[in-house]
Formats: sequence, structure tokens, C-alpha cells
Amino acid sequence: MDLPALPVRPLQEILDEAVSREEAMEIVFTDQRRVACTGGGALGHPKVYYTIGEKGYAECMYCDRLYVFDPSKAGQVIEGGHGDKPLLG
Ligand SMILES: [Zn+2]
Repeated sequence: MDLPALPVRPLQEILDEAVSREEAMEIVFTDQRRVACTGGGALGHPKVYYTIGEKGYAECMYCDRLYVFDPSKAGQVIEGGHGDKPLLG
């Protein structure tokens, strides 16, 4: 069953809306409307599924990873902070 077509939104618009925290999250571009997240690596968590709706993105409630619907960038990942950046001060 196919989901309705979804417009691709500018990433900055999504970030302005989705990111309410200073620390950048990891951003994963996808051409799928349904995504599965396991966190990955040492930051793994139980597998959870999200459906990307009209907002054009889904935020993982476990690891704050942001899944952005954009078929032209599918597979690209922008690394986020996730607390593994050196603490300053
Ligand atoms: Zn996750």
C-alpha cells in the first residue's frame, strides 16, 4: 500500500521546527515514508518504527535522530552531536 506523495521541505525549515535543543542531532535523509531506527552503535536502542507524515520528518524519541524525507538525498547522513563532542569549558 503506497502512501500519498509527500512534498520535500527545505531542511532549514525542518530544523527550525524540529530542533528545540542546542545540541545538534544526527540527520538521516530517506526516500522512505516508513523508517526503522535502532540508534546504531553504542547508542543503540530497541528497534522502533516511524512514519514520516505531512511534516516531512520524524524524530526518534530514543536517540533524537531526525529522519528527513528527501529522495534526492536518500542515504546521506549528517552527523550530530549526541554528546560525543568534546565538552568545552
Ligand atoms: Zn533512534
